[in-house]
Amino acid sequence: MTKQRLQTDVVVLGAGLSGLTAARSLQQHGVEDVLIVDARDRVGGRITTVPRPGGGTFEAGAEFIEAAFVEVPALAAELGVEIVSVDPVTGLQDVRFSGGERLLEAEPLAAQPELMDELGPVYEALAEIAASLDPVHPWETPTARDLDRITLAAWLDGFELSPAAREVLETDYSFLAASPEEVSILYVAWFGSISHAETEEPAPMRLVAGGGPSAIIAALAGPLSERTLLDSPVLSVEHGDDGVTVHTADHTIDARAVVIAVHPNLLQRVSFTPTLPPARRRLQQRWLGGPGAKLFAVYPTPWWRERGLSGTATNTLGIASIMDMSVVGDGTEGILAGQIAGTSEAIVADTDLLADDERLKDAFREAIVAAFGEEPEEPTEVHVASWFNDVWSPGCATAPPPGAVSLLGPVLRQDIGRIVFAGAETGEPFCDWMEGAVLAGRRAGHAAARLVLRDAR
Ligand SMILES: Cc1cc2nc3c(=O)[nH]c(=O)nc-3n(C[C@H](O)[C@H](O)[C@H](O)COP(=O)(O)OP(=O)(O)OC[C@H]3O[C@@H](n4cnc5c(N)ncnc54)[C@H](O)[C@@H]3O)c2cc1C
Repeated sequence: MTKQRLQTDVVVLGAGLSGLTAARSLQQHGVEDVLIVDARDRVGGRITTVPRPGGGTFEAGAEFIEAAFVEVPALAAELGVEIVSVDPVTGLQDVRFSGGERLLEAEPLAAQPELMDELGPVYEALAEIAASLDPVHPWETPTARDLDRITLAAWLDGFELSPAAREVLETDYSFLAASPEEVSILYVAWFGSISHAETEEPAPMRLVAGGGPSAIIAALAGPLSERTLLDSPVLSVEHGDDGVTVHTADHTIDARAVVIAVHPNLLQRVSFTPTLPPARRRLQQRWLGGPGAKLFAVYPTPWWRERGLSGTATNTLGIASIMDMSVVGDGTEGILAGQIAGTSEAIVADTDLLADDERLKDAFREAIVAAFGEEPEEPTEVHVASWFNDVWSPGCATAPPPGAVSLLGPVLRQDIGRIVFAGAETGEPFCDWMEGAVLAGRRAGHAAARLVLRDAR
């Protein structure tokens, strides 16, 4: 088959939240002629759904609007998508496993208050590091190199913690999808400080009404559908002073500029002519992502509440956490959501488990029973949304190894001629997260529009 030759002002590589935001921003800056190209048969990237048999969906990827997010709610409002706050249910007990023992707690650590004496200084020290960092360019902080060579594991060693205290901290940070030996204290402090707003009271959960962040994707992608090529992995990009040419198996697309809205590590699969500068290539090798999975079990009622339990459980039989997500159901059914973070330790411990959805479902059911007791009735649905086998996503979280942030961070958002970088990882200051994706998309849309409009003069 001969390849189709197309022409456009800007090619946007990646139809995730960041690429779609960039395309919208380009159009808002007067550059109408954009073409979005994605490898998958759908838009949304790390935001997508699991369909439910009776209709409705669960969010398979991003779901929670953190208290510190500003741009995601603003974009949702522009698109007419509502964000709702859900107050935490009070008066119920959480389950936490410590050294394999099941503890019930109305407040965090209530069953082991002595741990606060050990953990307090650790949290304070981490907050101090976070406060010392430049939130947008942490690599420019004078202590960045020193902090980036200390792993989270080595830093925690300095506190001589009891195994129970250590377990609490390691569970806290497992959401990074990296083992404590695999990330630096610089990254942990930076990532934590930019994503979580400090609140005195437990913050209400913020969710996108009417289908989660996928509703934002649908509202963004709808008007751009005629300008979106799916099932089209980008294989190579030629770039020069006058323009770019983007190649897929079926298309050759000439444009004034390209916005690249994919995770840096995945860009290693795209070849560039001329080759990208060595620093950029090094960044792409070292900016790693970590996979994970979400699980959902649906019951006719939220039976755990009748037992005085909130549905929250941590450190549960390899399922890092379980929470009550009944709020996304029809109002009567009980929904438990589980999250697994693919740290190297977890992946190597049972590689087969993480690759096998049926075994994951069984493991989830076992974890639910261990946490909340025998189920009074069988779940009506159990779903696995696994990112372990997804070849077009780097995973759920980004966790650059020690040294990468301080040495390669300066390259992260550096555009190269007519190549403009977007993607959640380049968000200022939010690296990763939906907030980063929107910030980066807006920045890239503006930068690429400037290039095109300059050519037109
Ligand atoms: C399970 C999970 C839970 C999460 N939870 C949250 C949360 O609660 N809150 C939050 O804020 N964030 C969360 N995140 C992170 C959030 O989803 C991401 O930060 C954000 O969606 C990334 O958007 P993006 O557009 O930058 O990248 P992506 O969504 O990864 O989009 C990039 C697109 O590029 C495409 N692509 C890649 N390579 C090529 C190629 N060669 N050619 C063509 N196309 C290509 C991919 O198919 C993809 O569609 C979660 C992520 C996961 C996976």
